[in-house]
Amino acid sequence: MSPFALSHSLFGHIEVICGPMFSGKTEELIRRVKRAQIARQRVQIFKPKIDDRYHEENVVSHSAQSIQAKPINKSTDILEHLYDSTRVVAIDEVQFFDEDVILVVKKLVRRGIRVILAGLDQDYRGIPFGPIPYLMAIADRVDKVQAICTVCGGAATKSFRKILEDEGQVLVGETDIYEARCGNHFEYQIDEELVSLKPKSEPIEETTV
Ligand code: ADP
Ligand code: MG
Repeated sequence: MSPFALSHSLFGHIEVICGPMFSGKTEELIRRVKRAQIARQRVQIFKPKIDDRYHEENVVSHSAQSIQAKPINKSTDILEHLYDSTRVVAIDEVQFFDEDVILVVKKLVRRGIRVILAGLDQDYRGIPFGPIPYLMAIADRVDKVQAICTVCGGAATKSFRKILEDEGQVLVGETDIYEARCGNHFEYQIDEELVSLKPKSEPIEETTV
């Protein structure tokens, strides 16, 4: 092995799992974590405190798979909680952290850690979410996963927010607030403050001129 390869192997790597809500991001994160544990690697799992939809101390998928996680207020808390022997760090809902998470991830990689990140690639308007675009760019591997469109059963890449009020980019919720939709059945139209939420499959009223 060349000296270059030897020094390179001291670095870890970054994996990003992204897609809309209900696309199996958390399931995939749990799957990778479990496999690392089977390989007897020490894994630490973190999630933002903001996401307390199911359980304060666990990462839980919509299919009720669950794994213990440390809820943290800010991404830099990861460095404080990190054990020397940790080989894998997994972070769920990474879109909720600010750009500090990018530096944290880079520091983890420099320590030789495999970093698994799961998060929404787009917000409810289809706009890239928080630090995710940057993380996707610097990642060694990116997997975009898809959900099932609730209107047509096709591949869904968008998270559709069902309520009309402008609650800002972050509104933690479930099927009461969000639906997975394909591009055809995801409609957003920011016209001043107005967001049109009418699915295209609904009959459009005919207008007489
Ligand atoms: P994510 O973390 O991307 O929000 P999860 O891993 O928590 O997704 O959940 C994925 C699971 O959600 C699926 O295996 C399925 O059981 C369930 N599910 C509910 N609604 C949908 C949908 N519209 N499309 C796909 N899966 C869905
Ligand atoms: Mg999830």
